Amino acid sequence: MTQLVYNFAEGNMNMRDLLGGKGANLAEMTRLGLPVPQGFTLTTTACHDYQETHQLSAELLQQVDRALEQLSETSGKRFEDEQNPLLISVRSGAAISMPGMMDTILNIGLNDKTVAVLAKLTANERFAYDSYRRLLAMFGNVVYGIAEDAFDQILTDIKTQKGYQSDLDLTTEDLKTVVVEFKQIYRHSDQGEFPQKPKDQLLAAIRAVFESWDNQRARIYRRENQISEDLGTAVNVQEMVFGNAGADCGTGVAFTRNPATGENKLFGEYLQNAQGEDVVAGIRTPQSVEVLATEVPQLYDQLHTIAHTLEQHYRDMQDLEFTIEHGKMFLLQARDGKRTPAAAVKIAIDLVDEGLLSKQEAILKVKPESLTALLHPEFDSQMMAEHAVLTTGLPASPGAATGQVYFTAATAKQASDEGHRVILVRQDTSPEDIEGMIVSQAIVTSRGGMTSHAAVVARGMGATGVVGASELNVNYAKKQASVGEQVIEEGDWISVDGTTGNLYLGPIETTPATIKGDLSILLEWAKEFAKLGVYTNADTPRDFQKALEFDADGIGLTRTEHMFFKPERLLQMRRVILAKTADQRAEPLSHLLEMQQADFYEIYKLAGDKEVTIRLLDPPLHEFLPHDAAEIQEVATQIGVSVDYLTTRIDSLKESNPMLGHRGDRLAVTFPDIYQMQVKAIMTAVLRLSDEGQIVHPHIMIPLTDSQAEMGWVRKLVTDQIAEMLADRDITVDYTVGTMMEMPRACVTANQVAKESDFFSFGTNDLTQLTFGYSRDDVGSFMPEYIKKGILPADPFQTVDVEGVGELMKMAVNRGRLTKPDLPIGVCGEVGGDPASINFFEQIGVTYVSCSPFRVPVARLAAAQAHILQTAN
Ligand code: PEP
Ligand code: MG
Repeated sequence: MTQLVYNFAEGNMNMRDLLGGKGANLAEMTRLGLPVPQGFTLTTTACHDYQETHQLSAELLQQVDRALEQLSETSGKRFEDEQNPLLISVRSGAAISMPGMMDTILNIGLNDKTVAVLAKLTANERFAYDSYRRLLAMFGNVVYGIAEDAFDQILTDIKTQKGYQSDLDLTTEDLKTVVVEFKQIYRHSDQGEFPQKPKDQLLAAIRAVFESWDNQRARIYRRENQISEDLGTAVNVQEMVFGNAGADCGTGVAFTRNPATGENKLFGEYLQNAQGEDVVAGIRTPQSVEVLATEVPQLYDQLHTIAHTLEQHYRDMQDLEFTIEHGKMFLLQARDGKRTPAAAVKIAIDLVDEGLLSKQEAILKVKPESLTALLHPEFDSQMMAEHAVLTTGLPASPGAATGQVYFTAATAKQASDEGHRVILVRQDTSPEDIEGMIVSQAIVTSRGGMTSHAAVVARGMGATGVVGASELNVNYAKKQASVGEQVIEEGDWISVDGTTGNLYLGPIETTPATIKGDLSILLEWAKEFAKLGVYTNADTPRDFQKALEFDADGIGLTRTEHMFFKPERLLQMRRVILAKTADQRAEPLSHLLEMQQADFYEIYKLAGDKEVTIRLLDPPLHEFLPHDAAEIQEVATQIGVSVDYLTTRIDSLKESNPMLGHRGDRLAVTFPDIYQMQVKAIMTAVLRLSDEGQIVHPHIMIPLTDSQAEMGWVRKLVTDQIAEMLADRDITVDYTVGTMMEMPRACVTANQVAKESDFFSFGTNDLTQLTFGYSRDDVGSFMPEYIKKGILPADPFQTVDVEGVGELMKMAVNRGRLTKPDLPIGVCGEVGGDPASINFFEQIGVTYVSCSPFRVPVARLAAAQAHILQTAN
């Protein structure tokens, strides 16, 4: 018989796959002797069984009964007992934490009878009815799908009628009325009465949690966070402890270190006389956990000790949920805490300093993609000084963002789809808002604390976040927010500083971030452990300068055609393209030679002793041609030909499929003088630098080659040109000529192509285009559907398609090295900066990757992780 239910005492932290993260940690904390209310976990296997049949199997029901029996014994309470009823919570918990994405039901076991027993037992009628109304709302929402708003509205109405400030003002009589009205909601729904039998409540709750794995917000969250659909969730059933049973009770969330900054100091929030969901849902703005230090120091000390024990045990920052019931501390959950990218870096480094982690382990703790958020711009300090602070909230997630205000997830999403920069402003957020949050530059709420849903999600996504800005009055009906007299309409611009919590009216410009402090230490370590080189794709000295600041090893790809878009260059380029004979090309080429020579000189000079790979021209010609009548007229005048002549010439150059047409080295075969000019420009710069005492080893890269013969032909063109230039000079220049591997045919015949190549560099953009047969410029119309429908796991232009494109790459690496065992091999397409792809490149023996400047730190960390994992296996 399969064991489908485990008591907390039976599990441990290594059983995440089976018990989910929450279940495994509850078991581990039980093992550590920490004060955990007891209970049991239904496994993910039980979830998979349920997903197949949509039934709770007899085997499972039997095991639940047995576990309930044991829980009754340990707790001395029983379901439906008139003396001492057992009350429980039911919570989801997948192997990977998905905060707030699935469901929780508290206070199961209460009904019209047991609520009175509880009132009597605790001598606290208000508490009993408060607990009952919570059960009715949570059960109604999670199990019967009744909108939360329906319940909230009743509470709001009573509070408004009676002029109450908070839920705490509700009297026992009020709560009794609320219970009656909540039960009415059930009657008016098509689901019928609230089930009075605790066992029926429990089983319905278990089903609902299993079902919640498939709800829309959970699916979106998994898609965003690349969490497998196959994991399923476990269900935790746990004896209730009550934070809402009086003034000596409360509930809180604590992080063992500050999740926004990483500072090594207990950080958390506490709500007196409240139940767990109140903190996370941001319904009341909680106090800092520091209040416990002054009000009940022994509890604060206990929390502190627990935090320390857990950190030492898990060797990472922990996020705890605790409840205090009549002065007694209980732990309801511990997990690795979500943190901002800045905090992740600081914590990883501090844990090494504290001797808890090795450098390698610390490197593995930081998500490479998250570094992008650290490289985000900061507000321009001068401009900020000119803006008065509109209001201040809690600095939930650092960063600087400027955008237009939207008040709902749907309008935010729509505005973002239309190309606007969006800031989502709400009273609070709930998991239903996830799509709107994903597209927002910043998330601002008027309620809730540092552990509210909005704060946790903003930090998780690396979005700027300010929460609990209580002076901000958000009115959804009017689509307005206001601070005093100042009104912000939908679409107005505001600026949000997630580091200080300040909000400003209007847009504020930002300045680029730099690498400093902890991040530079982490990247130093990454460099120590990475085997793959990390180069940059840079077309201008400015890009390269940025990449150098990010410590790129050199340039892996300079796309020379991008240098031709400045007006005076474009004109010369057009003259070259439109010319009919080599003679006509000679004059504009001589101008381009001058300009290119100056570009290359500047780049080589900036590079110093770092390597630079220059790719010769690869233009789909149509990109350079004038398109509309006005432009044609202008160009005709500029180059001194008639409009008719120009139009006919443009027509003759038109291609039905330019990306597969006259581009890349095909251009060299038809117009050798263009590549000759570029080689001349490279060598002129090299020789000039040599005269100045700087030795340059130029690497020249040929795009789009598909055969040994073609590569051989172009290589000879290049080497002849170099030989000619060196003929009467008394120096040797150490240069290489390599090919871009971007044609499937070149990959298949890589052993032959390698004979004519000093290096390979994969152009995965074209290679993916040609392997899938997807036009890289037109995928937008269908790719999102493919991903949504699960036909593609990810966009193969962003993350390498291991099975197809990856297999061709592997073949090319192996075949190329059959010919030249030491052949250097790079990747310079978009996927070169993608962490998941980098892991694959490490495995197949790639030498280096090259990516856009801002991806360099990301790629470096990913390369270190890939090598650490590779050598550990
Ligand atoms: C590629 O194809 O991957 C590549 C780097 O070249 P481009 O994007 O310029 O075609
Ligand atoms: Mg290409």
